[in-house]
Amino acid sequence: MSEPLLDIAEVAERAGVTPSALRFYERRALISPAGRRGLRRTYRADVLERLTFIACAQNAGFTIAEIARFLVSTPDDSQIRTRMAEKARELEENIQRLNRMRASLEHASTCMHELLVECPAFRAALARPRTGDSALADLPATDAESAA
Ligand SMILES: [Zn+2]
Repeated sequence: MSEPLLDIAEVAERAGVTPSALRFYERRALISPAGRRGLRRTYRADVLERLTFIACAQNAGFTIAEIARFLVSTPDDSQIRTRMAEKARELEENIQRLNRMRASLEHASTCMHELLVECPAFRAALARPRTGDSALADLPATDAESAA
């Protein structure tokens, strides 16, 4: 007996995406329907795993075109592996930047100085050359750390 097919509304509901997103993924060759039931597309159940993979890759910042290539890649597709490694480095840089922002906000929220502009750590951050991040993003997490 063949496995039961899901229609487009069931897949959309279970995957948490809209039917129009499914049709878009189909046009971009990310998924393909098993057939039709009347006018509605039907899919094999394993499309749900594929949609989870697509969502994860989109969250990691990959484009639809890149994801389409991942889905057909083999272990010796070095271009794709290189792209994934680049993305991992980008994520690491973002993590570092967010950690600095968190430290700055922790400092600003607990700063012992009456006015933040009187805080030596804040003044030092303002005096440093700007590098794209705000000066606030370079405060130590606490006044105690800046005194140390
Ligand atoms: Zn302070």
